Amino acid sequence: MEIYLDGEFVSENDAKISVFDHGLLYGDGIFEGIRIYNNRVFKLDEHLDRLYGGGKALLLTIPLEVSELKEVVVEAARRNKLTDGYIRLVVTRGVGDLGLNPIKCPKPSIFVIASTIKIYPDEIYNKGMKIVTVSTRRNLIEALNPRIKSLNYLNNVLATLEVNRTDAQEGLMLNADGHVTECIVDNFFLVDNGVIITAPTSAGVLKGVTRDTVMGLAREAGYEVVEQNITLHDVYVADENFLTGTAAEIAPITTVDERMIGDGKPGPVTMDLMKRFHECAQSTGAPI
Ligand code: PMP
Repeated sequence: MEIYLDGEFVSENDAKISVFDHGLLYGDGIFEGIRIYNNRVFKLDEHLDRLYGGGKALLLTIPLEVSELKEVVVEAARRNKLTDGYIRLVVTRGVGDLGLNPIKCPKPSIFVIASTIKIYPDEIYNKGMKIVTVSTRRNLIEALNPRIKSLNYLNNVLATLEVNRTDAQEGLMLNADGHVTECIVDNFFLVDNGVIITAPTSAGVLKGVTRDTVMGLAREAGYEVVEQNITLHDVYVADENFLTGTAAEIAPITTVDERMIGDGKPGPVTMDLMKRFHECAQSTGAPI
């Protein structure tokens, strides 16, 4: 595997980051997970847009122009001969001293790993998954805005530890007000009487690239799509539930906290959106 690290492609063994990097010491950095489908990098502009937005919010100047980083990502896919796969793009604050202050970190680091991913077995996509509400609340927007895709994922790790104690495949996270936000590393949707509903970013969710793609495809197909606060009761009584994410794509949810959703099978709207999403993923993106 050839990994991009600060200006060159190196082998896996040589792809090393300093123990003084604040990405490691403080989780001070940002990242993206990006998919490759059919020899193209899917939604690359959208991922880079979010990355540079996070950099701006953190006053972390990414040391490459957008067009240069775009070429690096495509080159990483090319060099590793990937026609389908998953890319992890990480920008860290870089090397500093043992104090927290980023002012002591003159040069951010960038690395790009181009590999593959499969997080759920095929059965999940055909039959749906089981999720549970976790007690760990999603980060408060006022404390750490979840719109920044930062290297600080302990909130999500704590939630995952809770799920690991159950037989569920994923967790559903509420915000401090008790509203439904998203799954642990995926956005959450429900379908109620044909209307597709997801939490607004103001509830404290990541502005998912897949979320935006699915909302766009759904509107194009004539569905009504609404961003509004969701309660757990809304989830339980909905006709369909599904989650979206770069790694997970669209995955049906058929049980939440032991309540069967709809008739307990992946619903027609979810299946229709899955089909539309795959068509879009197979036919668009930056050519490798
Ligand atoms: N929410 C969280 C917390 C995430 O980490 C992710 C990405 N893994 C998502 C939602 C889904 O976002 P995207 O569709 O951009 O991958």
